[in-house]
Amino acid sequence: RGPATLRDLLAGSAAFGDATFSVYREERRSYAEHLRLVAGLAAWMRDEYGLTRGDRVAIAMRNYPEWSPVFWAALVSGLVVVPLNAWWTGAQLAWALRDSGARLLVADGQRVRALEQAQRPPVVRVRGEGEAPAGVQEWATVVAGLDPEAALPDVAPHPDDDATILYTSGTTGRSKGAVASHRNHCTNALNVLLQARASAWLAHGGPPPAPGPDAGRPGTLLAYPLFHVAGLNSLYGAVLTGAKLATLYRWDVEEARELVRRERLTTAAGVPTVMRDVAELAIAHPEDMASLTRIGMGGAPIPPVLVTRIATELRGRVTAANGYGLTETTSAVCANTGPDYAAHPDSVGRPAPGTDLRIADPASGAERPDGEIGELWFRGPNIVRGYWNNPEATAAAFVDGWFRTGDLGFRRDGWVHVVDRLKDVIVRGGENVYCVEVEDVLHEHPAVAEAAVVGVAHPTLGEEVTAVVRAAPGADADTAALLAHSAARLPAFAVPSQVIWRTEPLPRTATGKVLKGELRQHPGH
Ligand code: ATP
Repeated sequence: RGPATLRDLLAGSAAFGDATFSVYREERRSYAEHLRLVAGLAAWMRDEYGLTRGDRVAIAMRNYPEWSPVFWAALVSGLVVVPLNAWWTGAQLAWALRDSGARLLVADGQRVRALEQAQRPPVVRVRGEGEAPAGVQEWATVVAGLDPEAALPDVAPHPDDDATILYTSGTTGRSKGAVASHRNHCTNALNVLLQARASAWLAHGGPPPAPGPDAGRPGTLLAYPLFHVAGLNSLYGAVLTGAKLATLYRWDVEEARELVRRERLTTAAGVPTVMRDVAELAIAHPEDMASLTRIGMGGAPIPPVLVTRIATELRGRVTAANGYGLTETTSAVCANTGPDYAAHPDSVGRPAPGTDLRIADPASGAERPDGEIGELWFRGPNIVRGYWNNPEATAAAFVDGWFRTGDLGFRRDGWVHVVDRLKDVIVRGGENVYCVEVEDVLHEHPAVAEAAVVGVAHPTLGEEVTAVVRAAPGADADTAALLAHSAARLPAFAVPSQVIWRTEPLPRTATGKVLKGELRQHPGH
């Protein structure tokens, strides 16, 4: 049987012993060291703070190597982890600490500073500079005092116990804390493994060759934040397969290239804009990136033109994978991998094993036939039970066993397509314009590095389509050419009425989503 709780999942990683688990700059930690640290921290959480089953422990830091041991120490103790968005302001962090009722916070120096004025639980500070504020313990002191002989605690969380409260990105309103169980996470972890395995089969047209004796271990360049379900995906993939996990302080193309070369990393995982950099690295520097076989993307719409570029330029070397999901689905509910993806680059793939999908009329819930656009509803073992402290939002999104995603899409011949978020659809003169369809066309134009479309109020049409575009380096900001390109590929009502060129990258969330609210207000910045 597979692991039923995250405790089982972690315990299995003892088999990887001295193999490297985490790499950060020059720092590395083995699986055995990681497990010892987890056990010590778990005993410390119990003895020092009296934390017991169901108590919440918050983490607020960049992808430092301290993230994982704190996460697992809380989980194996039956505590509930609250991973906080490291991009948030002090006020947002303070709100989430209050909302979740966290009894302990482990945070990096920057986050501790941001929370200086806020009411907060006891804090452990990781990688801080200068003297720690009153009431804040240093990580190094805590670690020095841990029991080196500690074993994993003698508690067995139930598969349906709460494991995490993960706050949604808040792109469409107030962020909500999605409460995921051990079962939700384990379902997702096994799906990750299945998808990687299935894509290796597909790429080889049968069972992939067994790794030779010189083959390195698998390794992942993790460019997603660990506080998001997409980042947790890679963490689970590592712990299940003994892969090493390399993280960065922030995205840096040269550091990424050096890490892949030095550590012989096999997978890169991140948001589409960042994975485009990885694909370009692999195309330009095949010798440095020779170990890379897979680029996993998701969290935001992926331009099909990127998938096609990977399929043609990196054929036989690297395959692309698309994971579509939400915080509420504990990561990918649909996936598209390997040659399948190259053949259907505009699709998010098929529902994950054990997941039901209904394309529903958003108003009545009635099922829509194949090919027609409706709201994507999912049901399955990866769907969370609801939102923390928010019965109204829970009642609105979780209906008769289904989770309503707020995304619009359709299914054709089994392939699922996401066309827009319900709240972003542009209604122009009575016609619906689905943003992703227009953005995909804009991305096909060589002068376009990044594009997003938003609806802007118009006196007679209701809304008009505005494209906000960042030009590719060295390309001309030629509006007429871009509109002619669009008019040749889109129905007339979907062709943008105006194009606003900007030099700055588009404003995005930590998971790569364009902040459309911000763009509607200040499209030209
Ligand atoms: P909030 O609900 O607070 O607005 P959020 O929904 O933006 O937050 P997430 O759960 O991080 O927070 O984002 C999920 C959304 O991201 C999906 O609903 C979808 O719109 C988008 N998304 C994720 N992966 C993909 C993908 N592979 N392709 C297209 N869209 C994606």
